[in-house]
Amino acid sequence: MVGGTSFKPWTVTGSNPSACIMNDNDDDCPNCGKSQIETRTETQTVQYKCTILNIDIPVRKCLDCNFEYTDHEAEDLIDTAIREWRFYHENK
Ligand SMILES: [Zn+2]
Repeated sequence: MVGGTSFKPWTVTGSNPSACIMNDNDDDCPNCGKSQIETRTETQTVQYKCTILNIDIPVRKCLDCNFEYTDHEAEDLIDTAIREWRFYHENK
């Protein structure tokens, strides 16, 4: 009998705490680094070929320095909207 199912094809060789912290601080202001961020939804107009798409994206505003920015969530939404538009209009 072969005992145990403890074999793993991988081992943990270490950790990278700074990478984890960077992920956790995803919502910090890129301008001043503070985390007092307010999110509002704004309709962004995106042109794709000859079509204008109106896409609701989250816009972040730092309450500390009033810096406004969009992050990867907005990019993802725009990507998804364009992909869906293409699916409905080009895959017929
Ligand atoms: Zn700021």
